[in-house]
Parts: sequence; structure tokens; C-alpha cells
Amino acid sequence: MDHESFRRYAHEFVDWIADYLENIERFPVMSRVKPGEIRSKLPASPPEEGEPMERIFADFKEILLPGMTHWQHPGWHAYFPANNSPESILGEMLMAGLGAQGMSWLTSPAATELEDLVMEWLRGILGLPAGLQGVIQDTASTATLAALISARERATDFESNESGLRRPLIAYASTETHSSIEKGVKIAGYGRQNLRVIPTDAAFAMRPDKLEEAIRADKAAGFQPAVAVATLGTTSSGAVDPLRPIGEICARHGVWLHVDAAYAGTAAVCPENRWILDGAEYLDSFVFNPHKWMLTNFDCSAYFIRDPGALIRTFEIHPEYLKTGADPYVKNYRDWGIPLGRRFRALKLWFVIRSYGTAGLRAFVREHLRLARLFRDWVAAEPGFEVPAPVHFGLVCFRWNGGRNEEESARINKALMDRLNASGEIGLTHTVLGGKFTLRLVIGSRLTEERHVRRAWELIRTTAAGIISA
Ligand SMILES: *Cc1c(COP(=O)(O)O)cnc(C)c1O
Repeated sequence: MDHESFRRYAHEFVDWIADYLENIERFPVMSRVKPGEIRSKLPASPPEEGEPMERIFADFKEILLPGMTHWQHPGWHAYFPANNSPESILGEMLMAGLGAQGMSWLTSPAATELEDLVMEWLRGILGLPAGLQGVIQDTASTATLAALISARERATDFESNESGLRRPLIAYASTETHSSIEKGVKIAGYGRQNLRVIPTDAAFAMRPDKLEEAIRADKAAGFQPAVAVATLGTTSSGAVDPLRPIGEICARHGVWLHVDAAYAGTAAVCPENRWILDGAEYLDSFVFNPHKWMLTNFDCSAYFIRDPGALIRTFEIHPEYLKTGADPYVKNYRDWGIPLGRRFRALKLWFVIRSYGTAGLRAFVREHLRLARLFRDWVAAEPGFEVPAPVHFGLVCFRWNGGRNEEESARINKALMDRLNASGEIGLTHTVLGGKFTLRLVIGSRLTEERHVRRAWELIRTTAAGIISA
């Protein structure tokens, strides 16, 4: 494609994106295609000769778009958000245009130095302890894996990198922990049977007394406790593990404390939410995703670490072909994680933080929290419905509980979810809390306003009434 054609299509595509975001409510939130439907409409083999962009773009709109689920829709209440913003999209566009790869300082000094600065900004914006240093990872799963591997190395005095694990190390997380912890424990060589699953209290938060008990039992049995993962904002219900008592226990036993705040970390932009960080002085590593609730389009995961030396010593490699004269004076982020190649993700984050300002970010979060509490209050006041977990963030768990038994209630809640998702107006998902089928409604889309949440609640009430009376 020549430069003039690129210019023309780029303008056309930007117009398309702007129209899409402006009119996104016309699309059903959840895609309605059947498994295999999209693939069946596409040619099985690649074209021998290149095709014109008009044709490719037409297929994108006609064939692929119906197979998309619209995460930026104001009725998006499923999973957690992955919100974007025009500012972030513009940054992402420039990043693609530059096509640079920031594996070391020399391969794009601005990429490294802006990442260094933006992560220091973020640390301050969240009120995390001074001295933590940040690096951007692709996802929280990767950041958590890096934490588990660093903890493994520290626990073995950096010997397992050399000779492999000689004896088991033990990891701790609550029953409500995200699946990425179990995945990381498997990959990092701990072994799933060495993951201790700590019970939670009535609010689904980790019980520190049970953590202490488990660590003591492991020590008495001759095992080595190495790492504990505390979650701020669990996936099922948004529960907050108490950092201070957990941190004190970890410090006493020499256990690495990793904090998974993938979704809810963004809430700490508001000082009134920083109670979740009480005890943060104990943490060794912390991850949260600006690509979830902070207006930065996927992917962008912020990873903070107390002792970058332990991270670098775990991950650094020095093949001759990567050595540069600048190495003694600069950060080479390739040594701060698993991949060698790195996207210039700091650029879109910088665009977002500068455009919104810290006050704009706080206002954004506060509005979502206001809407979530409003919705919670409506549900809690409605006979036949209950809110089974505290609402700390934008996630509200709720369920219809009028069945003759739990089985009947579960069946009705499931039917309710399926009908709501088929409506095209809203999308939500479920979990199981305390053994009971529970619906989750998350407010986190940039485009969600009070009128959307009112409509969602009306739809839930009338749909539930329809199912029950049928
Ligand atoms: C979303 C989430 C993750 C996984 O995030 P990825 O960036 O998709 O890997 C991990 N933990 C929690 C608590 C989450 O909410």
C-alpha cells in the first residue's frame, strides 16, 4: 500500500471507530453467533494474490463484526471491564505507527524512560508506598507468574534458576483467588499440590488466622513456605483480603507477599478507597490492570516490586548480541519479566493520565462506585432478591432467592441470566458464592450512565417476574 492510500484508509477507519463508539448501543452486547458460524463464512485458504483493502474491510464489517462481543457497550456488566478511551486509542495508533520494540533502553530510549516515569506517576496516583518500582507487563497473569518465580528464587537463594528445585516450596492463596495463581504455581515449578488454599470469612476475604495456621503446619512438617498471594477485589465477589495482618504474618515467616489487585487496584486513585492498601508497606510485589478499569485499552498491566534486584537477578540474561554500551547506566526492561520483546505500552497510559488528570481519574471511578451502590440499594430493597456480598467496588453480586429450595432458585437465576444476555441490552455473568448460583453485575464501562443502570435494573426485575410467573 502506498502512503497516499494508507492516509485515505486510516482516515476512513478512524471515522468508522468514532461512529462505532458513538452508536455502540445499537449492537447487541453479547454476540449472537453459533460456534463455528464465523469460520464457516470465511475462505479456508489464504488468497494467492493480494486483495484490495475495500474487500477486506467489507468482510470485517459484514462477517466479523456480528461475531464480536461489545465490551465498550454501556450495558457491558460481565466479568470485569476492559474499558478503553479515545485518548488511549490515539496512543495505541501512534505506537503501531512507530512499530518500535523496547526490549532495552537503546532500542528506543523514550520507551524505557517514559515507562519509568509513568509507573512512578501511577505509584503516586494509587498511593502505593514510596520505593516501589514499576514495570508494565502484558497481563496480570504474567505479572503474577513473574512474582511467583522471583519468590521461588529468593526462597532458594537464587539456586533454583541454576539447578532446579531440590525440595518443594509452598504457596498460599485464598479459596476465592483468581485462577492465574494456580496456573502460575503450576508453571513456576511449585506444583499444584503445594498450593495451600486458605479459607475465607463470611465476606469472602482470606482468614489471616488460617494462613498463620497453614504456614506453621508446613514448617513443622519440614516444608518451606515461600509466597502468599493476597487479593484486593476477588473475581467472584470483589472481596478484599486484609493486607496488614497477612503482611505481618508473611514478614514474620519470611514469606514473599504478592498482591493481586488486577481489577480493583484502580479504586485506590480515590483516597477514600485506600483502606484496601492498609498494610502495603509489607508487600513485595503488586499488580493491577490499567487495561481493566483505567481507560487504557488492553493490554497494559502495572507491576510494582519492592526489590527490583530480586526480579532482575531472576530474569536477566546477557547474550553477547544484546549487550550495549549504555547497560551500566540504564534500565533494560527485558530483564524485568518474561518476554524479550516489549510494546511501547507506556505511551497510551501517558495519553490517558495526561488527558484525564488525576482529578479526572478520580471522578471517573467515583461515578462508577456511586452507580454500583445505587444498584445495590435497589436490589437489596426488592423482595425476593438479595445481595450476598459487600459491595466495595463496581461489582454487585445478587440473586433471586424466592425458590422453594436452592436448586429451584439456581435454575431461575440461570434462566434470568440467559434471557438478559439474549436481550442484547445488557451482558452479565455468574459465579458461585457459598455454594449458591449468583449473578454478577459490574459497572465499569466508560459509556455507562445512570440511565443505563436504571434500565438494567428494570430489565432484571421484569424478566425475573416473567420467568417466575411462567
Ligand atoms: C482479571 C484478573 C486477573 C487476570 O488478569 P489478566 O490481565 O487477564 O491476566 C487476575 N486476578 C484478578 C483478581 C483479576 O480480576
